[in-house]
Formats: sequence, C-alpha cells, structure tokens
Amino acid sequence: MSVPADTIELRQAIIDACRSMNTLGINQGTSGNISVRTNDGGFLVTPSGVPYDALTPGGIVAMDFDGTARGGLLPSSEWRMHRDILAARADAIAIVHTHATFCTALSCLRIDIPAFHYMVAVAGGTSIRCADYATFGTAELAVHAAAALTDRKACLLANHGMICLGPSLEKTMALAVEIETLARQYWYARQGGEPVLLPDDEMTRVLEKFRTYGKQPQSEG
Ligand code: 13P
Ligand code: ZN
Repeated sequence: MSVPADTIELRQAIIDACRSMNTLGINQGTSGNISVRTNDGGFLVTPSGVPYDALTPGGIVAMDFDGTARGGLLPSSEWRMHRDILAARADAIAIVHTHATFCTALSCLRIDIPAFHYMVAVAGGTSIRCADYATFGTAELAVHAAAALTDRKACLLANHGMICLGPSLEKTMALAVEIETLARQYWYARQGGEPVLLPDDEMTRVLEKFRTYGKQPQSEG
C-alpha cells in the first residue's frame, strides 16, 4: 500500500473515477465525492457541486488535515467525512462516496445489509452497516460514517447513499461497484421473501478465505 504524490496524473485519475461512477450507474449528477490521501501529509478531494464533465486537474482541491484547502475551488461539502475517515483509518488511501440507487434505497429503510451472501465479507465483516442519519456536509455525519466503518471498508449512510474506502483509488472504485451489486441483490432477494442468512461461523470461514483470495503467486523471473 503506497501513498501517492499529488500529481496531474493522480488528479486526472480522480476525475476519471468521478466520471465512471456515473457511467457505471453507481451515482448521478454532481452527487458523490472522492478523496485520495497524498504523501505530503494531506489529501486531494473533489470540489463541491462541479459537474464531473467540467472538472479539470486544477479544480481538484488539496487539503490539510486541519481543514485548510489549497486551490481555487471550494472542497466537497463532505470534506470532513473524508478527512475524519482518512485520519482514523491508516488502511484508507482512497474514499469513494456515491448515491448509488440500491444502497440509497436500503439506507432509506435504515437497515444493515446482513450476511445474505458470502460476498458481504468483501466489506470486512458479517454485515454492511447503515450509519445513523445526519445532514449532509456536517461534522455529525462524519462521526456517524466513521463509526459505521469500524472494522469495515464500506457502509450505507441513512437516507443518503454509501461510502467505502480502500488501499488505492482503483480498488475502492471496484469495491463501490461490489457494494451496490450486493445492495441490488439483497433488495431483489427481499422481494421474494425473507432471505436465509449465513451463520457467523460460515462468515468467519469466508473472511479467512478472503485473506488470500485473488492473490496469485508471483510469476517466476
Ligand atoms: P459535493 O458536491 O459538495 O461533494 O456534495 C455531494 C454529496 O454527495 C453530498 O453528500
Ligand atoms: Zn452525498
């Protein structure tokens, strides 16, 4: 896990990720925001309310952990949520927040996504929690989100959407798609009745298998 430098390429990668959130169908409009920790002790975050098609590398906002923004545009209204999570979680290099439809629908029911499918373990535990409600852009929402992310890499935000973190922007975007897929599957499963949940001992086995899943041996030479 390496902490990237603040470069034009990283800023462009953030813009590309913002655009793909919308084309992938996990976000819409100027909703959502993305941050990436940088090796100068701060982080980059998307500006507030700027259509992603109009974003340029210079519009991505560099911030310090004390809340100082460096750049011409105002940072995302959710900069505190990004800042607090980055501060609390050494394993977070990137954070993606979206208003993905099925995550949002479940968040309006204020329910956690339980272990209805073994892939729920992708978020790091036996459930994907729904954080308590607070107004968007508040310090209170940042506290609720950080709490719901305890021992997890993703959570729902009540009556709002979802947020997830990971060791790189690429992996965090992939996780965001995975979480929305799980939310969609859970939503559909509930239409047919009460899904059968996997017991804790099975999820413990899955979580253990996930420690090595997808790690191919290094190619020789
Ligand atoms: P910003 O445009 O300020 O990032 O806000 C979008 C959003 O999703 C607020 O929760
Ligand atoms: Zn939002």
